[in-house]
Amino acid sequence: MPKLTLDRILQSQGFGSRKYCRELIEDGEVVINGAAVTDYKSTPDTDGLVFTLFEEEWTYREHVYIVLNKPADIECSRKPSHHPGVLSILPEQFSWRDVQPVGRLDHDTTGLLLMSDDGSFIHAQSSPKRHVPKLYVATTHDPVTEELVQSLLAGVKLHDEPQTLAAVSCRVLGTHEIEIVLEQGKYHQVKRMLVAAGNHCTALRRTAIGGLTLEALELEIGEWCYLEPEHLALLV
Ligand code: URA
Repeated sequence: MPKLTLDRILQSQGFGSRKYCRELIEDGEVVINGAAVTDYKSTPDTDGLVFTLFEEEWTYREHVYIVLNKPADIECSRKPSHHPGVLSILPEQFSWRDVQPVGRLDHDTTGLLLMSDDGSFIHAQSSPKRHVPKLYVATTHDPVTEELVQSLLAGVKLHDEPQTLAAVSCRVLGTHEIEIVLEQGKYHQVKRMLVAAGNHCTALRRTAIGGLTLEALELEIGEWCYLEPEHLALLV
């Protein structure tokens, strides 16, 4: 693989246009191993590359994989219409890198949202063939009944869906709170299933994808972190 020049490295990390990255380098803003590197044509080894810029230390990442505890009133869409888009609450570099949500949560749904700039990862994670369980905690308008649980487990018919959709499991958490585990990711699935089962949702939170849980990540609402290899292994 041909080595990347420093201007291209900075650009790939989301620091802006090639022209701007060259200016940063020529201005002596980029420090590697304690010394400013002012030649934008230099080709430092990207493997394990750490550099200082804007008084912060950065590690080169070919792709980024992140997890966000999504707040309410934020849209996952690339062209948000009524609320700020999810990229607006993340560092600017992620927009430059074209980081995108893996699937979507509704604007009013909170919780675990994966994001990446790796197209193959996004594609693989979003494939309908994947049956990774996703855990949701729904607050309901009416009390959670045994009948509701049985309907969700037996499967409900949703408009536009040829097959009935069933929860993999359900756990009653309170009089108006239920944990629902799904293996599909249909449009508004939890909300529509609750309506089809005779109740409806007043708040929804995604708490886990596969073995990756919000609880273990200890992310406050609006906080994010990089997914490290041990986290990615939990998504299978
Ligand atoms: N199901 C929904 O209804 N909404 C979401 O945001 C996610 C799952």
